Parts: sequence; structure tokens; C-alpha cells
Amino acid sequence: MLLITCPVTRTDELVADRRIRSVANHPTHLALHVDCPACGGLHVYRTGRRWEAARTRTATRATDRAAAQAAVAAAHQAVRAAQVAVPA
Ligand SMILES: [Zn+2]
Repeated sequence: MLLITCPVTRTDELVADRRIRSVANHPTHLALHVDCPACGGLHVYRTGRRWEAARTRTATRATDRAAAQAAVAAAHQAVRAAQVAVPA
């Protein structure tokens, strides 16, 4: 049995092993192709320590980038506010 979240219906589904269509072994992860009981589609689920680590690194980079953009935006806003505050 396998617990999946259908990306179409967003529901958790308990899936029987016979619904696993294929298992592909990649260097960083396993890819399971599963017949979804909720929507009838075929979904791919990837699992593996190195796959998770790569995803975490990507997410961390995105978070750092967003934080840097927010800091730049705040600095621009502060400059604009300072410019407005200067008496004519
Ligand atoms: Zn589905």
C-alpha cells in the first residue's frame, strides 16, 4: 500500500501495490508511476534522500533570493520615504 496526494483533487489516497505501474531507479531517487484512484490519471512520485536534499537546496536558494529582493525593496521604499520627507 502507498499513501499519495493526488495533484488534481488534492486528496490523500491509499493506493494498492497493483496500481503502481512502474518503478524507475535513478541515481538520485526512485520514480514511481502510480495509477491514481481519485482522478484516474497517472502520477509520478519521486522519493530518495539525495532527491530531497537537492529539492531542499533549491528551496533554500529561492528563499534567500526572495529575502534579498525584499531587503532591496525595503531599501528603495526607505529612500523614497526619505526623499518625500525633505522639505521643499
Ligand atoms: Zn490523481
